[in-house]
Amino acid sequence: MSCLFCKIASGEIPSETFYEDGDVRVFKDINPKAPVHLLVVPKLHIQSIAHLATNHGDVVAKIIYVAKRVAADQGLTGYKLVFNVGREGGQVIDHLHLHLLGGWGSKEERNVDV
Ligand code: 5GP
Ligand code: ZN
Repeated sequence: MSCLFCKIASGEIPSETFYEDGDVRVFKDINPKAPVHLLVVPKLHIQSIAHLATNHGDVVAKIIYVAKRVAADQGLTGYKLVFNVGREGGQVIDHLHLHLLGGWGSKEERNVDV
């Protein structure tokens, strides 16, 4: 499987990368819905949270841990982490990704729909 996010995560397609290691890449969302809107993407192709297998626990733990680390690096003291799951859940890209959203100045701005 080699979808758009497989290609970005592997580096085949360039992205504005904030973090990368052997398992994960964090890059800027092309259509940001918050002052800071990053996508935390595993290099392993998994379609969505609904497609997780029992051996994928480490992948999910890793992307949440990396999100926390990058949020701290960005100076975010509060933020949202969002998984969209399936079309009815707003998922457009069928490669698991965690939205990291933050940097708002007020509660009103925080009402985001990703
Ligand atoms: P979803 O709706 O699937 O949870 O989120 C997909 C996200 O990927 C959207 O926020 C969209 O703006 C972002 N996106 C789609 N195509 C690209 C791309 O080619 N590059 C980057 N950096 N982000 C993308
Ligand atoms: Zn993929």
